[in-house]
Amino acid sequence: MSDYQQKVSGSFNERMRLIRLRRKKENLRFWDEFRIVPRGLIWTMVALFLLAQGIAFSVNQWQFNHTGEIFAPELRDTPILSYLALAGVVTAVWLVMVTFIFLIAYVNRDAKRRGMNSTLWTLLVVVLLPASTFIGFLIYFLMREPLPYDCPQCGKAVGARFNFCPNCKCNLHPSCPNCKREVVETDKFCPYCAYELGTPAPSSAALSTVPNSSL
Ligand SMILES: [Zn+2]
Ligand SMILES: [Zn+2]
Repeated sequence: MSDYQQKVSGSFNERMRLIRLRRKKENLRFWDEFRIVPRGLIWTMVALFLLAQGIAFSVNQWQFNHTGEIFAPELRDTPILSYLALAGVVTAVWLVMVTFIFLIAYVNRDAKRRGMNSTLWTLLVVVLLPASTFIGFLIYFLMREPLPYDCPQCGKAVGARFNFCPNCKCNLHPSCPNCKREVVETDKFCPYCAYELGTPAPSSAALSTVPNSSL
């Protein structure tokens, strides 16, 4: 394997490792995540919704009174249905628009709190939006850095890439002494080889019988 290939696959493995770390440490809930969308933006969108409904209603009524034309002409006999249909269309358009705007706002805020370049990522999802709709968001959700979390020993915020806490030297990615795979601090037994964690490392004789598997 050439040096270049090795480097590329190395960075790919590092990327997969980060994705795994994220899955392990991040327990994201939709509504908690939604809260990072700025309040002002949410209220602006609500106001826009009411305004759009008001305008659609007024225009429809004005047309009906002056020209006899009404939205969805087949509902002419029951104008209330026409108004409801129009309100439904306005709501649908608003929902699609608001989904994208909130997603863009989320990417912007989320990238910032993950220490990523938020301007660049926001631009990327916006630029890819007309051509490929969700691809930009997909790339973002696959590529985003794991969230910083609190050191389990001293509580100081640590980056997900850190192996040791810079404040208290706590081992942030403890591995099973038997099979060398990564385990979580709270595991009592290794999920890969059932080795009892918290007991001293096995003798070198026992170790040599178990093939070391790399992460
Ligand atoms: Zn610490
Ligand atoms: Zn193990």
